[in-house]
Amino acid sequence: MLTTQQQHYLSHVLRLRNGERFIAMNGLGQWWLAVLAGTKAQVLEPILVQTELPVAITLMVALPKGNGFDEVVRYCTELGVASIAPVISQHTLLNPSSQKLDRWRRIAKEASEQSERSLVPQILEPVSFATGLTAATATCRYLCVARGNCLHLKKALNSVSTTEILIATGPEGGWTASEVECAIAAGFQPVSLGRRILRAVTAPVVALSLTAAAFEKE
Ligand code: SAH
Repeated sequence: MLTTQQQHYLSHVLRLRNGERFIAMNGLGQWWLAVLAGTKAQVLEPILVQTELPVAITLMVALPKGNGFDEVVRYCTELGVASIAPVISQHTLLNPSSQKLDRWRRIAKEASEQSERSLVPQILEPVSFATGLTAATATCRYLCVARGNCLHLKKALNSVSTTEILIATGPEGGWTASEVECAIAAGFQPVSLGRRILRAVTAPVVALSLTAAAFEKE
């Protein structure tokens, strides 16, 4: 059974008629070839898709100002992020409304379909940076620090072999010294993304591109 929204998309946006084929996906890694049959989709056969990265990358992103996070979600989904954990840090300027979470999840779904990914990245509920640190499970954890004179993320990833990576990027005002200390105590390695100061919206995109490039072999 198709939802009204799906029926509208298939009939009015894609202009499919009954009996025409399309690809259906469940956002959990499975795709099917399907045929439109009135208000239903009849599944014909499963399709194998291999568009996911060999490493599950979680981005912990301190919420930027305004609607900046929309862009972070869109671009990082296109680049292959597995999950995004928005956090509120000491220099974060706003507290997000709950409608924002729905909006980010919708953007992730759309961007994922557009990029032909088999998975829709998970967008977690915003939590404080301190809570985010304690919830971190990946063994490889990096904290992007501007002006820190730290090892470049690209170099740090050279010697790493893992299937799970966590990378944290800060807000416009950067991390406070105590946040950097707490992250290091929680097992994060401070890293650089180069000598230029990137915007809070650009830094996650760069971190993800570098990590994807380091792990994607073909
Ligand atoms: N206002 C701060 C910079 C904040 S940039 C200052 O002037 O120092 C926002 C976030 O992007 C930072 O917290 C960091 O996580 C990331 N970032 C930006 N440029 C970076 C770089 N060259 N290396 C590592 N992280 C960077």
